[in-house]
Amino acid sequence: MDIRDRILIIEDDRSIRNFIRAILEANHYDVLMAEEGTQAYSLITSRCPDLVILDLGLPDMDGMKILKKVREWSAMPILVVSARTHEKDKVEALDLGADDYITKPFGASELLARIRTALRHYRAIGQLPDGRMGGTLVAGGLTIDYDKHRVYVDGADVNLTQNEFKLVGLLGRYAGKVLTYDYLIREIWGPNMDKNNRILRVNMANIRRKLEKNPAQPQYIFTEVGVGYRMLDPD
Ligand code: CA
Repeated sequence: MDIRDRILIIEDDRSIRNFIRAILEANHYDVLMAEEGTQAYSLITSRCPDLVILDLGLPDMDGMKILKKVREWSAMPILVVSARTHEKDKVEALDLGADDYITKPFGASELLARIRTALRHYRAIGQLPDGRMGGTLVAGGLTIDYDKHRVYVDGADVNLTQNEFKLVGLLGRYAGKVLTYDYLIREIWGPNMDKNNRILRVNMANIRRKLEKNPAQPQYIFTEVGVGYRMLDPD
């Protein structure tokens, strides 16, 4: 299955929106678009994009408000794009949890580089000796390749679906640490998803069938009963 990162563009200026969309689509991103804040926030909560490109000057609200609301429940990467050149706005956006800030006008290669960096940082599993963030996690026979969106067990691709990959990727990012059911549901399905754990359990059962030799005695993803799941410590 071809898994592409989903990016939401929030921008009211049609020509800029189309410019960004063309760049992203040419680079195999799955693109969502919104031209005002209310619509944008509901797309964020219902479609849970992998990254958000946020214009601050929107017709119905200040983009900072969206940033603030999303940060109440998610660490998803948010790249602020704005015509504002004042230092004060940049500092405020970064303080509120923006991952990066680009000032208009900007070029395609700059935008793509910022996106790749923000995604990599979000998924970072460790810093390599040369200072780059590593894009691969290895834990026993399990390998997660974050750049290619692939998970391998003993070298064989296990063919996860988009949501299965997001779950395994998230557990991998915090390998060794327990992630609660609520946290996982919120990060993958958004804050409005029913808090009963059925959808999570179904996904986890499918993941285990693909990853584990014996799903009843997992080697890679463990259940902390009543709390959540934990991935094996990385090598
Ligand atoms: Ca604007």
